[in-house]
Amino acid sequence: MRACIRRGSKQIGGSCIEVEHGGKRLLIDLGLPLDARENVAGLIPEGLTLDGSDPNLLGILISHPHLDHYGLLAHVDGSIPIGLGAAARRLLAAAAPFLPGTWPVPAQGWDYESGRPIKIGPFTVTPFLVDHSAYDAYALLIEGGGDRLFYSGDFRGHGRKAALFERLVANPPADIDALLVEGSSLTRLELDATFPTEGDVEARLLKELAQTDGLGVS
Ligand SMILES: [Zn+2]
Repeated sequence: MRACIRRGSKQIGGSCIEVEHGGKRLLIDLGLPLDARENVAGLIPEGLTLDGSDPNLLGILISHPHLDHYGLLAHVDGSIPIGLGAAARRLLAAAAPFLPGTWPVPAQGWDYESGRPIKIGPFTVTPFLVDHSAYDAYALLIEGGGDRLFYSGDFRGHGRKAALFERLVANPPADIDALLVEGSSLTRLELDATFPTEGDVEARLLKELAQTDGLGVS
């Protein structure tokens, strides 16, 4: 199996990875770059044919419903199957009437169930539910031709579902040949400083919202 990072190795978001085995291919994430001024087809990584005419492109696997991981689906033909968490798919469909037209509603395809392998042509894909600020987010194990690639997707270890992170670290998939880990940092603290905890943030939000009349928008 061969893999190519199409975008995302030198920037935050806009992630897109392509894997190939025996001439068949899968894309993993098709994100809108965070610095994009608008969501246009010209942002699709060069060389990808996403109009449904490429029979060797078996589908697109989305790790989680954040625009910088699925936003360019807006320019993908509806005949190309999309893998996504079942709850994430429902969430995006329910939100669609309230969102601008360039926010994509993913086509049907594979609904992830954590730990349940999915056969796609010569590939086997196993999703692992992870803790992230996007609901229903997954890491993905991709197997093809005897090789195993693990893509973390976005994740965190300090949210309400931190147990998922601890579980994955304690019992990771074995014999991985390639490990792709998402990671970004917007700022660094002084050595003796700490970030607020999730609990601190929740408490502060609660206080602010309780003191706000009407909608909690500032
Ligand atoms: Zn994310």
